[in-house]
Amino acid sequence: MIVGVLVQLSNKNIDKIFDYKVKDELLDKIKIGIRVEVPFGHQTLEGFVLEIKKESSTDLELKEIISIIDDDVILNDELLELGKKIQEKTLSTLISCYQVMLPKALKAKKGTNINKKYDTYYKLGDSSNYKLNKTQEAIISLFKDKDLVKREDILKISISSLNTLIKKNVLIPVKLEKYRMSYKEKSNNKHKLTNDQKSVVEEFNKYKGYNTFLLHGVTGSGKTEVYMELIEDALNNNKTSIVLVPEISLTPQMVERFQNRFGKRIAALHSALSEGEKYDEWRRIYKGEAKIVIGARSAIFAPLKNIGVIIVDEEHSDSYKQDDSNPRYSAKDVANIRGEYNNCPVVFGSATPTLESFARAKKGVYKLLSLPNRINGKNLPLVRIIDMSEEIKYSKGHFSRNLLTSMKDKLDKNEQIILLLNRRGYSSFVSCKNCGYTFKCPNCDISLTYHKSSNTLRCHYCGYGNKVYKTCPECKENSIADLGVGTQKIEEELHNIFPDNKILRMDMDTTSRKGMHEKMITAFKNHEYDILLGTQIVAKGLDFDNVTLVGVINADTSLNIPDFRSSENTFSLLSQVAGRSGRDKKSGEVIIQTYNPTHYAIEYTKNHDYLGFYNKEMQIRKMLKYPPFYYICYIKISGKDPQYIFNEANKIKKSLDRNLNSTIILGPSTANIFKMNNIYRYGIILKYKKDDNLYNILEKVLDYYKSNSKVRIDIDFNPSHF
Ligand code: ADP
Ligand code: ZN
Repeated sequence: MIVGVLVQLSNKNIDKIFDYKVKDELLDKIKIGIRVEVPFGHQTLEGFVLEIKKESSTDLELKEIISIIDDDVILNDELLELGKKIQEKTLSTLISCYQVMLPKALKAKKGTNINKKYDTYYKLGDSSNYKLNKTQEAIISLFKDKDLVKREDILKISISSLNTLIKKNVLIPVKLEKYRMSYKEKSNNKHKLTNDQKSVVEEFNKYKGYNTFLLHGVTGSGKTEVYMELIEDALNNNKTSIVLVPEISLTPQMVERFQNRFGKRIAALHSALSEGEKYDEWRRIYKGEAKIVIGARSAIFAPLKNIGVIIVDEEHSDSYKQDDSNPRYSAKDVANIRGEYNNCPVVFGSATPTLESFARAKKGVYKLLSLPNRINGKNLPLVRIIDMSEEIKYSKGHFSRNLLTSMKDKLDKNEQIILLLNRRGYSSFVSCKNCGYTFKCPNCDISLTYHKSSNTLRCHYCGYGNKVYKTCPECKENSIADLGVGTQKIEEELHNIFPDNKILRMDMDTTSRKGMHEKMITAFKNHEYDILLGTQIVAKGLDFDNVTLVGVINADTSLNIPDFRSSENTFSLLSQVAGRSGRDKKSGEVIIQTYNPTHYAIEYTKNHDYLGFYNKEMQIRKMLKYPPFYYICYIKISGKDPQYIFNEANKIKKSLDRNLNSTIILGPSTANIFKMNNIYRYGIILKYKKDDNLYNILEKVLDYYKSNSKVRIDIDFNPSHF
C-alpha cells in the first residue's frame, strides 16, 4: 500500500502530495483524513493522509511512514473536499486551507502541549470472593443507584479502603473525558412567534434543500428568535446547525439566549477561549455531543455531520472575511459550499445587508425574507442629525446643546444612555475643524490618507499624492487638523458635565481582560451605570430595556476612511447603534453629531431607510465600477527592499496588462500601511466582470515568484478593505 501525504509546512514549493510506504503493522490503521508522522528531508513532519493507492507514480525510492497520530479521521470527506474548493477560490496553499479548519491543538507544532483532561470514576468489579469490612461496604453502597462513582466522592470515605478495593478488583477505574467548558441546562424561555415571524418561517419552509436566504429585518424585529426556530426544526429532524456571529466574545447576550433555549447541546467557539477550551469544544462537536455550534468566522469549519441549517447573523460584518493571513477566505462563501454539500438552507441575516447580498436577493439568486417592523409594533427610534460645524460656535467640548439637553432629560427620568465614539479610521485622515472639509483623490473619490513621515496626503487606490495644506481650500481658515479623539478624553468631559452620574467606558483597553466585557454588560443591564460610552463594541447586538437615548459623538470618522465601502460601513454602523435605543416599552431617541449632515449615508439613517440608501449607493458603485457591479481582487507585493519590490510590482502589472483583456488594472500604489515591520508593500487592484482567465494568470504569477525569497505575493479576492 502507498499513501499520499500532504505535509504540514506552508510553503508553495512543497504544497503537494508526497508518496510513502506503509509498514505492515500500520496497514489496517491507515485511513484517508488521519494525521501521520513522516520523514521529510532531514526532518520529521506531520501530515494528512489524502490518498491511498496501490502504486506510486514516481520511480523514486519511497520512505516509510513513521507513525500514525489519530485513531480516527479528523478531516472527513466533506472537509477534505471543502479544503480543495477553498484553495481554488483563494489560490492559497492546500495545507493552509486544512490548517485553518482545525484548532491549534491539532495543528503540527512541536511543543504545543494541549491535552485532553480526564476525571476518574469507578465501576463495580467482582466482589464474590472478597469479604467487605464496614468502610468498604460504605463505599460499595455509593453504587446503589449508579453505575459509575467519581473518585472524589469515594475519597471522602477512605483512600486506603479505595486502594484495597482496586487491588482486589472489586472496583475498576474508568477514565472519562472532562471538558473545560460547561453549559447550564436549558431554561427554555421560548416566545410564541409573532405573525410576521411566522410568515417568514412559512416562506422559508416552502423551499427544500440548498438555498441561500437573506433575512432583512430591522433592529429588534425578532431575527434571533427566527434563527432559533429554524434550529429547533433542524434538531427535531435530527440535524445539526451552525450560527455565525461577528465576534462572539463581543456578543455574550446572544450566547446566553442560545444557551437558555438549547442548553448543553450548544458549543461556542470564539477567540476568548483558551486553546484547551477550543480543543475540548471541537471534540464535543466532533463526537456529536454538541449539535449547535455558535461562533465567530472559523466556526464555519466545525466538524458537524448532517447539517440542517447554517445561519450567518449580521452578515454585513467584515469579520467574516479573513484578511490578515492565508487562506483569505470568506466564511459566507464557505457557508454556501457547506450548504450545497449538506443540501441544507443557508440564511444570511442583517438590518443592513451588504450591497452584494441585497443585489443578489433582488435578482432572486438569494431568497429574500423580510421583517420590516419591530416586535409588537414598537416604533424605531426618532433620529435627529446635528450639524457640528454650526454647533462649534456654541460649545467648546464634543457635545452639542441638543445632545446635552436630551441626556439631562433622560438621566432625570432615570433612563439609560449609550454614547458611541466612532473610532473607525481614527486620525488617519485630516479635515478642516471649521467646515469639515476633507481632502479627496481627484481620480477615485476616496479620502486621502495622511503620511506623517513625508507629510503628504496619498490615495491608496491609484497612488495620487499631494502635500498637506494648513489652510482649508474650502473656507480658507487655518484650521486643518487631525480629528482623532479618544474615549478617555470624552469620559473626562462627561464626568465634568454630569458629576453625579455613573459612567461606564467600554473600549479595547477596558475590555481586553477575559470576561470583562460580559461583566460590563451585566452591570449596565442592572443599571449600575447611567451612561455607557464606547467604541464600535457598543453598536453590536446589545439588548437593554432601559436605554432610551443613543448619542453618536462623531459620525464622520468612518465616512472618511479611504475605502469604497466607507459610506456603506457608516450607514450600517449608525443604523446598528441607533437600533439599541427604545427596544422595550419606552420610546427611543437617537442623536447623531456630524460635520456632514447632508451626506446620504447620514441622511438615510434618519428615516431608517435602507432601500433609499441601497439605491443611491448602487448608482455610485455602478458609476465607479465597484462591487456588486465588478469583482475586486487585490494583489499585495511585499518585501524588504522597496526599490526591488516596486520594480517587481511594475513587472507584474505589465504582465497582467498583456494577459488580461477586459480587466481594469490599477496601481501599483503604496499599500495603506506602506512600511510595516520593515517590510514594504505595494498593491495592485483588479476590477473585473467576468473570469477573463484571471485565476490561471494569477496562478502563473504566484508560480513565478514561489522560489524568490525577496518578494512575497498575497492575493485577496473580494477584500473587505485595502
Ligand atoms: P433582532 O435579532 O432582530 O435584533 P431579537 O430576536 O433580538 O431581534 O428580538 C428583539 C426583542 O424582542 C428581544 O428582546 C426578544 O426577546 C423579543 N422577541 C423576539 N421575538 C419575540 C416574540 N415572538 N414574542 C415576544 N418577544 C419577542
Ligand atoms: Zn486615487
